[in-house]
Amino acid sequence: MIVVGGGIGGLSAAYALTRRGLAVRVLERASAFGEVGAGIQLAPNCTRILDDYGLLDEAKSLGVLPDAMIMRDAVDGTELTRLDLRDLERRYGFPYLVIHRSDLHAMLLRACERAGVDLRTSQQVTACTNTADGASVTLAGGRVEEARIVVAADGLHSVARKLIADDEPVSSAYVAYRGTTPTASGRAADVDLSEVVVYVGPRCHFVHYGLRGGELLNQVAVFESPKARAGEEDWGTPDELDAAFAATCDFVRGGLPDMWRDRWWRMYDRDPIMTWVDGNIALLGDAAHPPLQYIAQGAIMAIEDGWVLGEQAARHLADEGWAAVLAAYQAVRPEHCRRVVTTSRAWGELWHLDGLARQQRNVLLRERDTYDYAFVDWLYGPTALDPSDEPPMFTPIPLSSANALR
Ligand code: FAD
Repeated sequence: MIVVGGGIGGLSAAYALTRRGLAVRVLERASAFGEVGAGIQLAPNCTRILDDYGLLDEAKSLGVLPDAMIMRDAVDGTELTRLDLRDLERRYGFPYLVIHRSDLHAMLLRACERAGVDLRTSQQVTACTNTADGASVTLAGGRVEEARIVVAADGLHSVARKLIADDEPVSSAYVAYRGTTPTASGRAADVDLSEVVVYVGPRCHFVHYGLRGGELLNQVAVFESPKARAGEEDWGTPDELDAAFAATCDFVRGGLPDMWRDRWWRMYDRDPIMTWVDGNIALLGDAAHPPLQYIAQGAIMAIEDGWVLGEQAARHLADEGWAAVLAAYQAVRPEHCRRVVTTSRAWGELWHLDGLARQQRNVLLRERDTYDYAFVDWLYGPTALDPSDEPPMFTPIPLSSANALR
């Protein structure tokens, strides 16, 4: 089979399917496999899968296992709520891990190499097409490659998605700046790396955590771009970064000089789609469900997709064939990812509140019991293989109470 795209989603799917005995070729358009960016957070629903792959110890040795995740108000710096990540690990059975994206990607690449995945770079796919007994991909230059199944893990601007949906990425008008700083000296030396911290503020937020066993401090500054809102092309520029955080506390503003100022990430997602399979072509990862990053589940969903495909292949392929494998994948993944994509949007709105709404949010968050996991149980438990295993969605206010308030 062919996997289009060698990002975190494509490589983890290739590994999941190869370990089930399938011959997998990955076609990556870049001239070398790699990841741009800085840190990534991996919740227990992902570390559970890495453990199943025999990769968790390696991932732990490359990353950091923080003790707490803390939300603070970006304006006054006060704590709003926290997760005790040691207790969280006991609850879900697997740790919350933060890791450099390139370390995670390189670990998956090594796993694919060991498993015998056929890994090819400089392969720009321009079209995916169903054939009589499989699917084909056309490459820039015109060469066509055939396979029984094509998994399209080609990211936000997926070529294959066009077969299924005539949609476009949705701009949030938010932009992310990232930066990593050695912790040996300077401000980074004073930051507590046992914590993942997010400062939430009006139309902006700021995240920091440690990477590489504490050698690096990872910081992310995200804000709404006034130029994007005004419909200007050149949006998200560094002058907007400084202005967006002008009213935040000293700690947050102190992190801005550490941001890389020569590149930034405009934040797009797509509206959820509930069909991911077209004949012998299946979407996976951001190609199927690019989210805003606010609940840190984008790469995790991609890793879950690949794991589910591998498990469904193990269950159904020998007796029922590929149609049953893809139907089982299609039956369970889109609904989960729809929930994540829509919750991520809602989470962003909550984080970025201003005025009275911000104060009301802060009161509610301060009242939350640290050990109340109701809002993450649906995310951090085992990845469902059947729709009936999908845990109920968290509803902050039960519908009956909401109606009573009207
Ligand atoms: P991509 O990473 O986009 O990979 C697609 C691959 O396909 C690339 O290698 C690309 O070169 C290749 N490709 C594309 N088109 C073609 C083509 N036509 N032919 C051949 N190859 C092609 N997620 C988390 O889980 N936790 C986090 O903490 C987190 N934080 C984030 C923070 C920020 C600021 C952002 C922007 C995102 C964050 N995410 C996080 C989301 C996560 O990064 C993405 O959801 C994830 O990387 C998607 O992986 P993917 O492999 O599906 O797609």
